[in-house]
Amino acid sequence: MKKIVTRFAPSPTGFMHIGGVRTALYSYLYAQKMGGDFILRIEDTDKSREVKGSIAHIQESLTWLGIDWKYGPDKPGPFGSCLQSDRLDIYKKYAQTLVDKGLAYPDPYTNEELEAFREQAKAEKRPFLYREHRPETFGVWDGTKPLRFKVSEVKRYHWTDAVRGELEAGEEMLDDIIIIKADGYPTYNFAHIVDDHEMEVTHVMRGEEFIASTPKFLSLYDALEIPYPVFVTMPPIMAADGKKKLGKRDGAKDLLEYRTEGYLPEAMVNFLALIGWNPGTEQEVFGETELIETFTLEKIQRSGGAFNEEKLLWMNKEYLQKLSTEDFAKYVKDALPETITSLPLFTEQTLLKLAPSIQERVHSKAEITQAAEEGEYSWAFSTPKVDPALVQWKKDESPKDALPRLQKALELLTDADFSTADTIKSAVWDYAEEVGRGELLWPLRVSLTGRERSPDPFTCAFVVGKEEALLRIQSILNSI
Ligand code: GLU
Repeated sequence: MKKIVTRFAPSPTGFMHIGGVRTALYSYLYAQKMGGDFILRIEDTDKSREVKGSIAHIQESLTWLGIDWKYGPDKPGPFGSCLQSDRLDIYKKYAQTLVDKGLAYPDPYTNEELEAFREQAKAEKRPFLYREHRPETFGVWDGTKPLRFKVSEVKRYHWTDAVRGELEAGEEMLDDIIIIKADGYPTYNFAHIVDDHEMEVTHVMRGEEFIASTPKFLSLYDALEIPYPVFVTMPPIMAADGKKKLGKRDGAKDLLEYRTEGYLPEAMVNFLALIGWNPGTEQEVFGETELIETFTLEKIQRSGGAFNEEKLLWMNKEYLQKLSTEDFAKYVKDALPETITSLPLFTEQTLLKLAPSIQERVHSKAEITQAAEEGEYSWAFSTPKVDPALVQWKKDESPKDALPRLQKALELLTDADFSTADTIKSAVWDYAEEVGRGELLWPLRVSLTGRERSPDPFTCAFVVGKEEALLRIQSILNSI
């Protein structure tokens, strides 16, 4: 069987948006699944649109997601460079074969003449077709004029798409298109066909905006006597409501912004994979290997897949929970503002002890930063000022009623083993059952944190450590 080769072929014209990344991911997954190659080809033939730094940015984005290319801008293949601007001679060679067959010719018109043809078509309310002005005899191509393809068969084309099935489109798209521009660079229409052939690409995966142009491409494949690859049309990505295509205002932003916001690459990959593909089961969380194993072209949807940020957050939480405590503590540290990391009791060790209670709940870095700014974690890293009134557990109690209980807890904790929250719990649990859980645990927790809401008192005592915990209880006893 022929080796499967897929490619992602971005133009270096700016940031990596979600749609592009998803195409790259599907192409990569399919190549991996089939034991094939995935190529990253940079389509930099329109120098006026190129944005500096985009190539590095594309590579960084894919690398972040763990999408690795066999050949790419940094790794030429047996076919040469993966940058189209390095391959001009190859396109010229292919163009020359068309010239030799009488299937390509230099455009003899000036821009003004072409403009006049266009105006004329407009005035007559019909579409402008260059082929209606094709010169009778072809001049010699010396590279100074655009080279045009002579489309010989003006007909309806039919082809099969692995996702959309039988497709057809017509002659209105067929024209004598430019294949090599006057600056020596090829057009996308021409270059991608030559490259896909040279790079032995078997599956061309791209967005639905290319369907309408496919007859144009097919007429070129035929003229070049190149067999068609398998076309795989990606479903469009829709806004969360599923009604319109995802636009900038619906959150279509640069992929790397998600990294900054604290999304894990594994969560992003899993999330992207499910926009427009589903395995046909209820399963939603897939590790990379599992994704590769499960991925098939048959399960790519025809219709649009919704980009739902809430689902992404949910997915991120799933993956955050899989992190080791050490890795999660690092994640938290990155999210903490300096007002927290500069607190007097802040140490990596304390953070490590606090991390699991945060890990249970959060979805993103932003949530951690916000909670930190609202003071949710400050008790762990600095001795809180406790309002004695907060110690009051029930309406009809006074804070003083809690005194004997806290006194007893202090005694029990003085002798307790502080190596885990559980050992701390065992030291006071029987007593809590005796006097009432809330009656003991509430004032105890408040004395440790000064807050109405926080993790349970055992976790809090464990986080701050024995010495500090005892000091805090003593201090509230003194102030009541
Ligand atoms: N350079 C094209 C783009 O960025 C690639 C399309 C294709 O995959 O053929 O849209």
